[in-house]
Amino acid sequence: MKPPVFTVIAPIYNELENLPELYPRVRDVMDQTGEPWELILVDDGSSDGSTDVIRKLAENDARVRPVIFARNFGHQIAVSAGIDFSRGDAVVIIDADLQDPPEVILDLIEQWRAGYEVVYAVREEREGESWFKKTTASLFYRLIFRITDVNIPLDTGDFRLMDKKVVAVMKQMREKHRFLRGMSAWVGFRQIGVKYKRKPRYAGETKYPFSKMLRLALNAVTSFSYFPLQLATYLGFITTGLSVIAILVVGILRLTTGITLLGQATTLIMVLFLGGVQLIFLGIIGEYIGRIYDESKGRPLYIVAESPVDFEGTED
Ligand code: UDP
Ligand code: MG
Repeated sequence: MKPPVFTVIAPIYNELENLPELYPRVRDVMDQTGEPWELILVDDGSSDGSTDVIRKLAENDARVRPVIFARNFGHQIAVSAGIDFSRGDAVVIIDADLQDPPEVILDLIEQWRAGYEVVYAVREEREGESWFKKTTASLFYRLIFRITDVNIPLDTGDFRLMDKKVVAVMKQMREKHRFLRGMSAWVGFRQIGVKYKRKPRYAGETKYPFSKMLRLALNAVTSFSYFPLQLATYLGFITTGLSVIAILVVGILRLTTGITLLGQATTLIMVLFLGGVQLIFLGIIGEYIGRIYDESKGRPLYIVAESPVDFEGTED
């Protein structure tokens, strides 16, 4: 078999109903490229029988290469495993729920052939998602854009194509808390966006509840910015400045007019306020320390139960 020119990676977490639709859609699109391709399906600890469907697909088509995790490691890690196993000259990341239409891959490939190393898909419209998800996502992208040191394009997800040069760098980035869109922006090279309309899920429910979205947002901020830590310094200077002014005012009033400022309530409010602020910043520092701790343990990013080599017997 010739080495693949294109690798398509789809992370799978309980996508039983989507798999029988995903595979033919991807196959039909990729066959149109006229080049050899592979589809890496990363099973992120599914418990609904998706794993068996993935094994079946691999038996029937040697271009389907399964990576089956020992447990659920999360979307970003699943995609990272796909990147590690990829062999193509260009690697495409796509969601398994068909919110990212596989047909758009052809537009991504067109820009890659024109010489771009990263082609990210920009969500021009999002259909079938809740008002809450759209608003929080939009706010999140704008916040990240403001406070991080890399220019992460607005309204892009992980749906993108990366050249093997970029993929080679991504393979070396072993950080545990991952925000792939940021990482692929950080790498550099020539990057361009392609607009598309994000569709509703083909079947099933979102696997990204609010708690997971929040964790992803925290990972994004902490991986690419010190801003939350610096906030403590700014606020510290402001409160110190204000208290110096207050000391002067109280002192001068006492000396010139004899007025003494009293008030237990004000004291109590100030103590509580500053206590709260300090606890918040302890928490923020804790977020960073926890991440340093995770990195220092040096554990593997994921644990593979069955890798593509276990299936390679079916190849011709
Ligand atoms: N996913 C995964 N592991 C997880 C959660 C999600 O591999 O722990 C996969 C999921 O199967 C899908 C993709 O990540 O292919 C995006 O998830 P989802 O569609 O639920 O997120 P949303 O589009 O709602 O943000
Ligand atoms: Mg989705």
